[in-house]
Amino acid sequence: MVKHSTECNIKCDHCPSMFKHKDFLRNHMKRMHQGLTSNDVNNDTNLNQSSAVKKTLKERDTTLEDQCSVQNETLNEEISVENKTLNEEISVENETLNEEISVENETLNEEIRVENETLNEKLELKMRR
Ligand SMILES: [Zn+2]
Repeated sequence: MVKHSTECNIKCDHCPSMFKHKDFLRNHMKRMHQGLTSNDVNNDTNLNQSSAVKKTLKERDTTLEDQCSVQNETLNEEISVENKTLNEEISVENETLNEEISVENETLNEEIRVENETLNEKLELKMRR
């Protein structure tokens, strides 16, 4: 029995990638999971995960021919999730920054008001002469 060449039934142990040939999986393991001996990639922090996704993205173009469409769909989902997380982080950071700016503006406005008052007093004194 000869296996059909378009079948994608060889799965990577460390990520959802599927491959048509063992050789492709071996190449993928070398490129993507160098030094990995167990499934501990799933225990990584979000930070490491995002860098892993970036690495995956970088490798995507070179491995596109080897891999099945499943891999691209999975990658797109990962990218979408990562973008969402990044956007949330940016949103939180923006809120914090806006609060800081608001506080700083209040302080500056008070300083300007005090300075204006002082200037007005000086002007009044001058005009009285
Ligand atoms: Zn993998």
